[in-house]
Amino acid sequence: MDTKSKELFEAAKRHIPGGVNSPVRAFGAVGRTPRFIASAHGSRITDVDGNEMIDYVCSWGPCILGHAHPRVIEAVIRACRDGLTFGAPTKREAELAELIAELMPSMEESRLVNSGTEAVMSAVRLARGFTGRDKIVKFKGCYHGHSDGLLVKAGSGALTSSVPDSAGVLADNAKNTLIAQYNDRASVEKLFSEHADRIAAVLVEPVAANMGVILPAREFLSFLRRITRQNGALLIFDEVITGFRLSLGGAQEYFHVTPDLTTLGKIAGGGMPIGVYGGKREIMELVAPAGPVYQAGTLSGNPVATAAGLETLRILQEDPGIYERLERKTGQLAAAVNKAAKGTVCVNQIGSLMSVFFTEGSVTDYERAVSSDTGRYAAYFGELLDRGIYTAPSQFEAMFVSDAHTAEDIAYTCRVMEEALSKEKESL
Ligand SMILES: *Cc1c(COP(=O)(O)O)cnc(C)c1O
Repeated sequence: MDTKSKELFEAAKRHIPGGVNSPVRAFGAVGRTPRFIASAHGSRITDVDGNEMIDYVCSWGPCILGHAHPRVIEAVIRACRDGLTFGAPTKREAELAELIAELMPSMEESRLVNSGTEAVMSAVRLARGFTGRDKIVKFKGCYHGHSDGLLVKAGSGALTSSVPDSAGVLADNAKNTLIAQYNDRASVEKLFSEHADRIAAVLVEPVAANMGVILPAREFLSFLRRITRQNGALLIFDEVITGFRLSLGGAQEYFHVTPDLTTLGKIAGGGMPIGVYGGKREIMELVAPAGPVYQAGTLSGNPVATAAGLETLRILQEDPGIYERLERKTGQLAAAVNKAAKGTVCVNQIGSLMSVFFTEGSVTDYERAVSSDTGRYAAYFGELLDRGIYTAPSQFEAMFVSDAHTAEDIAYTCRVMEEALSKEKESL
């Protein structure tokens, strides 16, 4: 039943483009009506028609503790009572920056902004300011928010020419974004051989999680560390998803590769709007007012958002066992899919991130990811949704597991996934 969602969607479309405030929410890729959400607690999300579903979207990452964790809600309410925004410094901002530096030692200094988009945009500006160079390298299929210069992935077969992905992005703006292939060292080496002294930074999702989940090949990240250092370029890890998700210290701790700059978001805000960029002190000291790279924000370091982020990180820090639990539960889901669908799909999983690609063989880069059959994914998604399991309405988004998912949630999900995939396999 989705009568009320349908009504609300029709009403929303009258005054909001596509009826949503972020495109994937519209369920366009799976041909269904988006569920309008009324509330969410723990692992469960409830829509306006009263359907309660086990949620594996988790707001696209932030809700690693599950929804509405009592301690986080309490911290937010307490902060609200003291006022919503002051436009002046507060104690918790320094505490959050200190805690981030403790958990991710490469982030000696950091700046709070309001979204991941803003964090990456600012980090790129800083990398250019620090190096005095103009070009950045990004990888095809990696997402870094919607700022102009990063909405570029290059058309297939034209890996090195930069073509904007969005109307309204000037070719002029995109021309300084060089495109490499994820997990392909030669594509990076080629860009450095052509543009060595103009590359300010290599920007990468250390685990790609915006074309579905794709793991870095062995030594790929350490290769990026080496080639950037050799060429005087900075290495930026976009850990907006992986930060505090793969481990307390993010992907950089997980893979033992230390970037110069890191961007965070999602979990860092504990469900409130926060982005963070930070890194080595000598680089960060270039940010205004300490230095000449300008970046500001009316609501940056907002006291309510900061309270949510700080409380979330403290809970994670007090409970290091959480990452083992997340890995175990997500591993169970991956095993169930593999058992039911052997050979007809590809499962990529690391920590609490997972994707089921409807394609055969391994998925290691953008081309392999987009070889997936999105029609098959849509059918699988619909089957899960109808049985109370809410997963990403797109083949190219990750599945997120939270600490609130119970053993019963996982067992039920495994059963539904197995049945959906067995049925699917027979129909092939
Ligand atoms: C979500 C995301 C962003 C953008 O963050 P917003 O808060 O949506 O602006 C940037 N980088 C990565 C890796 C992301 O997953």
